[in-house]
Amino acid sequence: MGKVYLRRGRDRAVRNRHPWVFSGAIARIVGAKDGEVVAVHGADGEFLAWGYLNRRSQITVRLLSWEEEARPDAGLWRERILAAVARRQQLHDDPRTTAYRLIHAEADLLPGLIADRYGDFVVVQLLTLGAEQWRQVTLDALNDALSPRGIYERSDVDVREREGLPPRAGPLCGDVPRATVEVLENGHRFLVDIARGQKTGFYLDQRENRALLARYARGREMLNAFAYTGAFAVYAADAGAAEVVNLDSSAEALEMARRNLALNGLACPDDALVVGDAFRELRRYRDRGREFDLIVLDPPRFAPTRRHVERAARAYKDINLLALKLLRAGGMLFTFSCSGGVDASLFQKIVFAAATDARRDVQILHRMAQGVDHPVLLSFPESAYLKGLVCRVL
Ligand code: SAH
Repeated sequence: MGKVYLRRGRDRAVRNRHPWVFSGAIARIVGAKDGEVVAVHGADGEFLAWGYLNRRSQITVRLLSWEEEARPDAGLWRERILAAVARRQQLHDDPRTTAYRLIHAEADLLPGLIADRYGDFVVVQLLTLGAEQWRQVTLDALNDALSPRGIYERSDVDVREREGLPPRAGPLCGDVPRATVEVLENGHRFLVDIARGQKTGFYLDQRENRALLARYARGREMLNAFAYTGAFAVYAADAGAAEVVNLDSSAEALEMARRNLALNGLACPDDALVVGDAFRELRRYRDRGREFDLIVLDPPRFAPTRRHVERAARAYKDINLLALKLLRAGGMLFTFSCSGGVDASLFQKIVFAAATDARRDVQILHRMAQGVDHPVLLSFPESAYLKGLVCRVL
């Protein structure tokens, strides 16, 4: 059985049940192949935890268990999948929501595995070599727990490269989903392109924040920047927004936004969809004196890791500054960051800096996070990736 010995003084994170062991913390690795389960030991030889190994990754071991008697195997992996799915079924026994995250990787004690439900279909991402080893167990467990019509893989993400794995996508079992699958979220209807959409098809993590937006949308002129397929727009328009402009760099995403609005019986005039770069378009609104009462800023990840923080901070500040200038007095800003490298306190500082430069007094009405189906594991602060502020400009 393979063993990994840590360097002296590098055992703290493991003892605190943080699930990652970085290559720099490791003194030596004996008798283990990549992908296999190994025992992690301290410098004095004492047992600390079990995990799976991949020398090619900076995150060389992903930990699975801290009980010496319970060596993780396919059976444990299966049990954890069934448990994670059962937790979601408890959370979401409301038929008005048929799309949610079933498995949130490390935060559900299943490192490297993501699974999302879209109606009768399940979409999975196997992000690590360790998760790859349990591919078949994973499919069997999901089939047993949910009996989906089909399971589709969207492991076409760059993190696989860091594990030495090629991207992979396509149907895995059951029926192949049609070009778009229809799902319900809080009673709103959405089309999701499982095969070609971003992430696994939809930004499920914003569900609760979209519901919050609906509370403030009535009668307002809204700009939905980084709109993707218009999910925030559907909630706002349905709640009685006076006007909603959707802005995104992807024409395809906006075409889907048009279809989503129509599917919910909501108007979508031609000028409600703007294909363009948000930084540029917001500047153009400013130059033309165009104003709004409500702006959503939900940009892509500017800082995937800490190394990108500085540049990301500038981009967040820029876009927030522009948005704050476009708001009428009393106007509201729903602003988000899903960058792992930018935590909630840094994000608030960035928005503060933007407000100062915009010379506006700004209140925070709500602090937002990812939805409950994307839980945060207390021992793994990295799992808290989405943060947002609801601001009011005085
Ligand atoms: N708010 C959306 C999710 C947004 S994801 C929802 O609730 O579903 C981020 C979006 O930003 C993507 O659709 C991407 O196409 C778009 N995007 C990325 N860079 C952009 C840019 N510079 N200008 C405008 N849109 C951009």
